[in-house]
Amino acid sequence: MPAEALKCKECSTTYPLAASYVCERCFGPLEVAYRAPSSSADELKRRIQAGPDTLWRYADFLPVERVPRTSLPTGLTPLVRADRLAERLGLGELWIKNETANPTHSFKDRVVSIALARAVELGFDTVACASTGNLAGAVAAHAAYAGLPAYVFVPADLEPEKILSAGAYGAQIVAVRGNYDAVNRLCTEISGERERWAFVNVNVRPYYAEGSKTLAYETVEQLGWGLPDRVVAPIASGSLYTKVARGFDDFIAAGLVNGATPVMHGAQAEGCSPVAQAFAAGTDVCRPVKPDTIAKSLAIGNPADGPYATELARRTGGSIEAVNDDEIRAGIRLLAETTGIFTETAGGVTTATLAKLAERGEIGAGERVVVYITGDGLKTLDAVKGTIDVAEIEPRLEAFESTIGVTA
Ligand SMILES: [Zn+2]
Repeated sequence: MPAEALKCKECSTTYPLAASYVCERCFGPLEVAYRAPSSSADELKRRIQAGPDTLWRYADFLPVERVPRTSLPTGLTPLVRADRLAERLGLGELWIKNETANPTHSFKDRVVSIALARAVELGFDTVACASTGNLAGAVAAHAAYAGLPAYVFVPADLEPEKILSAGAYGAQIVAVRGNYDAVNRLCTEISGERERWAFVNVNVRPYYAEGSKTLAYETVEQLGWGLPDRVVAPIASGSLYTKVARGFDDFIAAGLVNGATPVMHGAQAEGCSPVAQAFAAGTDVCRPVKPDTIAKSLAIGNPADGPYATELARRTGGSIEAVNDDEIRAGIRLLAETTGIFTETAGGVTTATLAKLAERGEIGAGERVVVYITGDGLKTLDAVKGTIDVAEIEPRLEAFESTIGVTA
């Protein structure tokens, strides 16, 4: 396989490609290291284009021995040209990567695809996760397709849409009385006790994280083997944000596209913005916070990849922004009204951040911007409740004419 080791992000100590996630020497996080592709760019491109219409077309850049036979088809989501939104914000070339089109309507299907494939290769027989919501549904659905038992651990106050859909796929839901950080701590403890359980974002996290790179691979391919100048992506743990940049770097290094890493902007909710706060303070140290925001899928108070996210934002000339709950609701509406894409609160955070950057004049008119919309609005309907104007009338023509007809 293209991967050659697990490697500590802090001290570069390498480990075998097993189910480990923390460096024994310095307690730094482990990530997958690859050998340089032995194929030419032309050959890689040919293999990608001849591959399946799923993220497995990028197998040359993924940490599995072989493409699994039982994998719920994921990826190749639409990259949508957003001219009306661009016009509204005074921007040039704007694209929306619409991740609501994945099987469980969020980008988490990508990371779970890779985690499950690797977990099966490593001999695990049960899958589990600590989830802020979207991951629960993805783990449950992919486990159902693969025929594996699944346990999903969520904060008890999660949106019911997310809990119920995960349950419908047959997973055992464990609602923990505590926030995500408490759920995550509990799962870390349980993973030490259950040797046959793969917690996708705990003991097989290095493989799981690689799934987010495919967002960048697809973007390049869908832009006709081109790069964005600028990217806006949400930050919860910081994993997606940093791995998207890594994805662009992989393709640049392999000679599949020419150019530099795009300017990377990260988006957080003010009610849980440890990474944005660290960025503003000019440090890589993210002080943990207690989340209080409607953007529950981004509500990680102690983000594992926070320091790498701030470093990436600085290195690429980007930034990490925070927007408040009203701006998030407005972001959801703005995206829906101009693109036909209804996103959950996380996408509201991302869209509001794009609007903020546009308003500040940070985005040049000639730039190509790609925005990652990571989850579906049907998962967080409460966020728009009370903001939609519904005209209720009697079933009579006069009633319509006197209520709506006068303005239509
Ligand atoms: Zn280390």
